[in-house]
Amino acid sequence: MSDFNMFCYQCSQTARGSGCTNSGVCGKNATVARLQDNLIFAMKGIAAYNYHCNELGVTDDSVDEFLSKGLYSTLTNVNFDIGDLVQLGLGAGEANFKVMKMLKEAHIKNFGEPVPTEVKVGAQEGPAIIVTGHDLKALEELLKQTEGTDVKVYTHSEMLPAHGYPELAKYESLAGQIGGSWIDQKKMFSEYNAAILGTTNCVLLPKPEYAERLFTMDIVKIPDTQVIEGYDFKPVIDKAIELGGLKAEELSTITTGFGLSTILSLAPQIKELVLAGKIKRFFLVAGCDSPNPRMNYYRQFVEELPEDTIVLTLACNKFRFNDLDLGDIEGIPRLLDLGQCNDAIVAIELAVALCDLFEMELNELPLTIVLSWMEQKAAAILWTLLYLGKTDILIGPILPAWANDDILNVLVENFNLTPISTPKEDIKKIMG
Ligand code: SF4
Ligand code: SF4
Repeated sequence: MSDFNMFCYQCSQTARGSGCTNSGVCGKNATVARLQDNLIFAMKGIAAYNYHCNELGVTDDSVDEFLSKGLYSTLTNVNFDIGDLVQLGLGAGEANFKVMKMLKEAHIKNFGEPVPTEVKVGAQEGPAIIVTGHDLKALEELLKQTEGTDVKVYTHSEMLPAHGYPELAKYESLAGQIGGSWIDQKKMFSEYNAAILGTTNCVLLPKPEYAERLFTMDIVKIPDTQVIEGYDFKPVIDKAIELGGLKAEELSTITTGFGLSTILSLAPQIKELVLAGKIKRFFLVAGCDSPNPRMNYYRQFVEELPEDTIVLTLACNKFRFNDLDLGDIEGIPRLLDLGQCNDAIVAIELAVALCDLFEMELNELPLTIVLSWMEQKAAAILWTLLYLGKTDILIGPILPAWANDDILNVLVENFNLTPISTPKEDIKKIMG
C-alpha cells in the first residue's frame, strides 16, 4: 500500500502548495480520491481501445459520452459520492465492454476472423522489421508496403495474434514472431539487427544499441527516434535493408488465432466431454506480463493444472507459458490463445455461449478467471468483468496500489476478488 492515503495536486488549494496526501483541502477523502484515480485509469484503457476503433473508422457515441462524463466527475468539487464513484467504475466496465466489442468487430471486418495458426518463432535469413504493440492496421499497412521487397516482418509481444487473421497472414512478408512479451524488448531488440516499429503502448525507452533503428508512429513518441506519420513506412523499410539483415536461427513454433467461431464449432464435442467428466474446468489465465517476480506464478499455475482442464489465454502474460505442450483432450487443445488484451471480449462471448450450452448462469459455469495486470487497459478489463457480475476472480501479481482497504472490502464482499496465493493452494481451493 502507498505511503500516502491519497495524492492529489490538481487545484490551487492543494495542501502546503504541494499535494493533498491525507485528505483533500476541498473535503475529498482518500476513498473518493482513489476511486477517482481508479476511474481515470480505467478510462485511459478505454481511450486506447477507442483510439484504435477510430483508426478503423468506427465510433460509439455512448463510449465518447462516458469518457466525457467520467473525466468531468473527477474535476475539483464535483463528485464526493463514494457509491456513485463505484457505479462510475462499473459504467467504465460497460463502456469498455462496448469498445472492445466494437474493436473486435472492426478487426474481423478488416482482417477476417482469426483461425488457429502455427507461427514460426525465431529469425530467418534476410532484412527484417520487428513490429511491437497492438495496432493491426499499422501492421497491415506495413505488410502492404513490404510486398515485393525481400524484407521480412516479424511480430513481437501483443502482435503475435496478427498471424491468425487471414487478411494479414496472406502477406508473404509476414514471416514469424521474435521474442516474447514487452518486457524482453531491450534484450531482444539489442540482439536482433532489425528495424523496429513500436505501434502503441508498451514500447520502452530504447538502449543506445538500437535507438537509431527504432521507429514509433502516430501518438507513440520516444525522444530522438523517428516518428512515422500517415502510415508511410518507407524509412523503416529503408533502414531494414540498410542494416543488411538477420542470420537464420533454429526455429520453434507456437499456435495462436483461436477465434470465437472456431471454438464454437467445437461446442457439441466440448459439451459431451464436460458431461462425460473428461473436461472438469476451464481457466482463463490472461492479462499483462510484468517484470514482477510474482509473475512466475502464472507459468507454475498452468503447469500444475490437472490434465482434465482447458486453459484459455489472451494478452501478453501468455508468454509466461505458451511454450508449454499441454496436449489435448480428445482433439480439443488444452491451451487456446484467443488473442490480444482487447480480445477479452472473445472470452466474454465464449463464456456467454457456454452459459447457453450448459443452461447455467455466468458464475455457475466451471470457469475460473486468473488475471494479471500491469497497466490501465487491464484496469478497464477488470471493471468490465465486474460490470458483467463475474465473481471469484483471482488477481495478481499484486493488488492495485490505488485500492485502499475500503475499496478492497467492496471488491471482496461484492465480487470475491481474491489475490493470488500459491499455484498449489489456489488450484486446490478451486478444484476442491
Ligand atoms: S481537488 Fe481537493 S484533494 Fe485535489 S488538490 Fe484540490 S483540494 Fe486537494
Ligand atoms: S497486454 Fe498489457 S502489458 Fe501486455 S503489451 Fe498489452 S497493454 Fe502492454
